[in-house]
Amino acid sequence: MKKTSNQFLEIVAIAITVVIVIGIAVFFYKTKFNQKQGIQEGIKNITTITESNPVLTVKIYAYCPCKICNKQWAGMVSTGQTMAEVKEKGLNICAADPTVLPYGTTIRYDGKDYFVTDCGSAIKGNTIDILLEHHGDTLKFGVKENQTIEIISKK
Ligand SMILES: [Zn+2]
Repeated sequence: MKKTSNQFLEIVAIAITVVIVIGIAVFFYKTKFNQKQGIQEGIKNITTITESNPVLTVKIYAYCPCKICNKQWAGMVSTGQTMAEVKEKGLNICAADPTVLPYGTTIRYDGKDYFVTDCGSAIKGNTIDILLEHHGDTLKFGVKENQTIEIISKK
């Protein structure tokens, strides 16, 4: 009789141990699974960002470093640098409305990236002004309505 009771207790002890072990195993598995899921979701988010940048429909003007385009500010951008200094960094310049696209924003238009470092009295709202090399190029460019630009990075 005593032996049977001991066997019963042994079975109960084994059963409890098994339940605890399974519980721990499930807990670790779930934690791992959640981590994996989290990483996968993170990767998905990164992919989404690189796959499609936010876009903006704008009116685009073009200007050049000359006096006709900039008056007394010829060759300068409104962030205080010279156009040459900005271009030395390998950046294309564009002017924008700083309340729409703050200085330091990078936008992509027609496969080229432009850095917002300038503004202008006529450049308000969804309007940008891209800096071209020569005045003749700006005349050829004219004004383009309803153009799509991508916002690569916004400050
Ligand atoms: Zn010009």
